[in-house]
Amino acid sequence: HFTVKQAKEWLLQINDHMQEHKQELTRLDQAIGDGDHGINMARGFKEVVKKVNEKEYKTVGDIMQDAAMTIISKVGGAAGPLYGTAFLRMSLAFKDKVSIDYKTFTRGLDDALQGMKQRGKATTGEKTILDVWEPVVLFLEEGESFQPQALADTAKHAMEKTKNMIATKGRAAYFKEKSKGHIDPGAMSSYYIFLAMAEVLE
Ligand code: ADP
Ligand code: MG
Ligand code: MG
Repeated sequence: HFTVKQAKEWLLQINDHMQEHKQELTRLDQAIGDGDHGINMARGFKEVVKKVNEKEYKTVGDIMQDAAMTIISKVGGAAGPLYGTAFLRMSLAFKDKVSIDYKTFTRGLDDALQGMKQRGKATTGEKTILDVWEPVVLFLEEGESFQPQALADTAKHAMEKTKNMIATKGRAAYFKEKSKGHIDPGAMSSYYIFLAMAEVLE
């Protein structure tokens, strides 16, 4: 079960990864974007941690909602509204819940994925965040209980697969064929989001 305490730890752990990998994410975005993804994510999640550390939460929905609102207002770029949508969808799926079972958790992540697809008018294979989220959701749907290590491995493998994709959405699409040979920065930040999740579920 995924509890309020774990939800908070997840957000703190995501922030740790974003601070630690800020340069790496920025370098990737310099290659196929405008070089701000690491800055955007590090700034946004620092604010998320500040926000959730100020309050005591009773439900997973409430903490996810505060995270979503902070992400939307503080991350910026293309990633802000997309990740904001993901956390907002999770907050709705986990509304009034203090503890979430595997099936409900999986459904919440699928809602997040569908929300981002709609919001960004994108699908898989376009070298984006979705190329990590979709394989992770499919992996969860195939399972019956949390398997942190396999979850992290699935996300990592999916992130690496974006390297050979040609971007057709977001700023990277302007690079056309030249976007090939670089991991998508959003796919990498999504990997860290799921790595953080795996670490919290362990
Ligand atoms: P910006 O490109 O506006 O500077 P960021 O650098 O923060 O924003 O985020 C870039 C990331 O956003 C990309 O690496 C990609 O993964 C993701 N992205 C961009 N457009 C879309 C979209 N339409 N759908 C899904 N993800 C997208
Ligand atoms: Mg950028
Ligand atoms: Mg930008």
